Parts: sequence; structure tokens; C-alpha cells
Amino acid sequence: MTESSRTEATRPSPRSETRAVPSTADGLRRENLSRVLTLVHRHGSLTRSRVTHLTGLSRTAVGALLGELVEHGILTQTDPLPTEKAGRPSANYSTRDDLVGVAVNADVRGVRVGFSRLDGSVHESRMIPLSGRPTPRTAAETVAAAITAHREKFPGERLVGIGAAIPGRVDPTARLVTWAPYLEWEQEPFAQALEDRTGLPTRLGYDAELAVTTETMWGAARGSRNTTYIYGGPGGIGGSAIVADRILVGGNNLASRLGHLTVDMDGVECACGSRGCFEPTVAFRHYEAALGDDLSSFADFGAALRATRRPEVSALLDRDAEYLGRVLRSIVLVYDPEMIMLGGFLTGVLEQRRAELERAVAAATLTAISRPPLLQPTQFGADQLLVGAGALAFRGLLDDPADFLLDVDREASPA
Ligand SMILES: [Zn+2]
Repeated sequence: MTESSRTEATRPSPRSETRAVPSTADGLRRENLSRVLTLVHRHGSLTRSRVTHLTGLSRTAVGALLGELVEHGILTQTDPLPTEKAGRPSANYSTRDDLVGVAVNADVRGVRVGFSRLDGSVHESRMIPLSGRPTPRTAAETVAAAITAHREKFPGERLVGIGAAIPGRVDPTARLVTWAPYLEWEQEPFAQALEDRTGLPTRLGYDAELAVTTETMWGAARGSRNTTYIYGGPGGIGGSAIVADRILVGGNNLASRLGHLTVDMDGVECACGSRGCFEPTVAFRHYEAALGDDLSSFADFGAALRATRRPEVSALLDRDAEYLGRVLRSIVLVYDPEMIMLGGFLTGVLEQRRAELERAVAAATLTAISRPPLLQPTQFGADQLLVGAGALAFRGLLDDPADFLLDVDREASPA
């Protein structure tokens, strides 16, 4: 692996199977192990012939690589599928269920913890509320307690690491939370705090980047090379953009701060020091106030919006569709995406005011030369941050399967 791809490890390109070719034979073998495992991770299960087709490697080489991944206890070989063509059926390989990553999402209301598998599924997820905003210490202690309880309940599982989705920016090594305004965390060594209390290798990721990666890998944006993502949560608005298959990072690791685009020159003051930013102008708390009891009477926010008859909600949706439309227009002009994904409460605004938002997007598009981007709700809903965090927990294993598991097994059974 080259130095540049190493620093990019926590921000995988959605097409990360195309990497630089390492020079030594052992390096090449490890790189190919990583490529093959990444493919099965993305698809959940694949036949040997499909892996051969997708990698372009020889059938014999692919057989040896898959065999090694089975030997390391990462993949399992299942019954061959019925033949696609004449000849022997191709053996099928799946990820093993006993390899588990810990998915963490620290939010202003507490810590969400789930246990994920290599196929992207998340199990046993729950929100653990904390009295007051989590600090790195209380969050790490909460996660450690959840892991202890999980280990007692499922003693046969092998925990490979922790991935934490942070509602804010992390440094490129994924060790430090550089700035998470709503948690009030700044330059916090949160990865170390988690490792000290759990003994598990830990990586951190900016939640919007994890979410857009998840959606392009398994969700509604699968196959898209240019996707912009905006998420509206109780703690504010996050954004991220994939342009030509790469997540835009920027010179200070701060690209795509879509919550701070100006939508109202005379608007309210923002925590960033500016005025009329998207984030304080369009906020979930406005819906909490307007919906009142209706918010808790229905299954979720979308259902509450569909059911309510309150005129103040309708007026709020009209107003927010106007502001969101301005943001979408800017996104079209700057990123030229094929798809814009809306997550969190913005999904509800999209559902209620799609026609208005599509008009705003179309107006920004030079229709003679291009098509307006698709406006799409996120597929994973409330779970998307945990799915992304779970995939991050497996990053070390995916990058170097053979070496990584040796380390994990050594930790689990010290000689
Ligand atoms: Zn701002």
C-alpha cells in the first residue's frame, strides 16, 4: 500500500478495489487478499467465478486467496449455487457471522452502540441515553460497559475493533476528534480513550462521510460516482460530497460544510459567527415545537408530518422548502452531482415538498446540457450512521486481513 492510500484508509473510495500495485510478492498477495475480502464485504457473499470476474485474477489465484481467507476464519464456504453455465458449480463464499465490529455513534443525547458484521448488517443496536451531553470519558465508559455486556451474552464472537461515527470532524489519522461543535469536543483523543477502556483497535469517522460511503456501498446511491449528502439531525446539519468517486476532504479537512451556506442574509446568528446559515435557520427543534404532541403520537417524524393537520407545520414546511431549495441550488452549481441524498429530518421535508425542491434543482441546472440530479431519501434511515461506523470498525481487517487477525487472536488469548 502506498503512503497516500494509507492516509486515505478511513475515507475509502467507493471503488477502493482499484489500488496501487505493491512491489514485493508478499505485498501483492496481501493486497489481493484485501481486494478479494473487500469485494465479499461489499456484496455479502460471492461465488468464486464472480470474484475471478471482478478482480481479473486467475481462477487458481482466486481459489488460493479465498482458501486463505477461510483458513484465517474470515470467510466461510457455503454450498455451491446452481450452475450459471455448463460445467462444475462455482463454490460460494460468505462473511462469517462470528466476526463482529463495534459500531458507535456519539450524539448530543447519548451514545448509540451496535454490533456489526462484515456483510454490513448491524445487530443488538440501542441508544444509551446519558444525563447531559456525553464527554469523551463518559462516552468511552458507556461503550466499554456495552461491550462487556455483549461479550457475556455472546461469548463465541470475535470482536475485531471499534468504529465511531462523530457528529463533527476528525483528523486524517482517525485518532482525534478535531471539532464536534454540538458535543463541544475539540482536539479530543477519543480513539485512545476507547482503546484504553476496551483494548480494541479504534477508528473515528465524520458521520456524514460514513453515511455517504454507506449509501454508495450498500444503499440508495449504489453505483453513483457523484453524490452529495445532507443530513439534518437534532445536533445540526452535516454534509459530504463524493465527486468522481472520491470524498472531497479539502485543505483543512473541512470541505462540504453545507450547514453553513448562507440562506438568509438577514437571518439569525450562527455558532460559526456568520448570519443566516442553513443550520440554525432550518432546524429540527422548529418541527418539535410546531408538531407538539403530534411528534410523539406517531411512529416516526415522517409519519407525524403525514398525519398532522396543524397549519403551523404546513407554514414551516413551505418556509424550509424555500431555504433547502437554495442549498440544493448551490450544491448543483458547485458539485454537479447525479444524486442528492437527504437524511434525517430533511427526508421528511423532501417527502412533503418534493415538487418545490425539484423545481429549485431544475432551475439551477442548464437543462440543455445536463439532467437535474435525483433527489433521494437515504435508504438506511436511523441505522445509517451505525452501518457506516460498523464498516469502519472492519477497516483494519479489510486493509490487511492476514496480519490483522493474527493480532486480534493474539490479544484474545495471550500466551
Ligand atoms: Zn454558520
